Amino acid sequence: MIVAQRKSIPELVDILKGRKKILLLGCGTCVTVCLAGGEREVSINASALRIASRLKNLDFEIEELTIERQCDNIFIEKAADAIKRNDVVLSLGCGAGVQAIAERYDKPVYAGLDTEFIGILEERATWTEKCIACGKCVLHEYGGICPITRCAKHMLNGPCSGSTEERCEVRADRPCAWQLIYRRLKSIGELDRLKSVKSPKDWSAGIGGGSRVIIREDHRV
Ligand code: SF4
Ligand code: SF4
Repeated sequence: MIVAQRKSIPELVDILKGRKKILLLGCGTCVTVCLAGGEREVSINASALRIASRLKNLDFEIEELTIERQCDNIFIEKAADAIKRNDVVLSLGCGAGVQAIAERYDKPVYAGLDTEFIGILEERATWTEKCIACGKCVLHEYGGICPITRCAKHMLNGPCSGSTEERCEVRADRPCAWQLIYRRLKSIGELDRLKSVKSPKDWSAGIGGGSRVIIREDHRV
């Protein structure tokens, strides 16, 4: 899922000052699960912004709404009336959600979150990055553990000389990805994969050339 974090209230006040009618728009999917932009966070942020508005004489009028997904037209339409009756939208969706709303309405749409990464909930209240969306997945070579994302040096042929059995030399708070890869390949009987030296990665499918587009001709009508 997409993992994001809330911007601080002083940051939001700075973004919104000079505005009056504000729609605080949550998203019910990834950012709800990572406790950043769901209905609960809309309510918390709305209360905090109302207090800040009173303290600073800012005159904010805040409407609250959460839709199921901000990155999908079918759900965005459900916010149409609320968007129209406000001056500005403060989106608590990820960066894709903010842009999806902005593309459809002639209103300012501001990001209320910092979108961080694609990851998972690893343990209670802890999310970790698992994928940088490189565009050409090589997980099959590494037992399902991504060296590009999880090795601090992004090594396709690891480990580096600083690795210990437990920790990464760059990130002492994280396990060495290559130790994980080794143990995983051993446990599934695929250690032979490490006998060959992997070629440098082809990055042409990555973000280097600008934003990427996928067209499925078989689904076009
Ligand atoms: S190889 Fe690329 S697509 Fe696959 S998990 Fe790693 S970054 Fe993501
Ligand atoms: S210690 Fe392991 S995870 Fe850290 S940079 Fe070296 S190989 Fe990568």
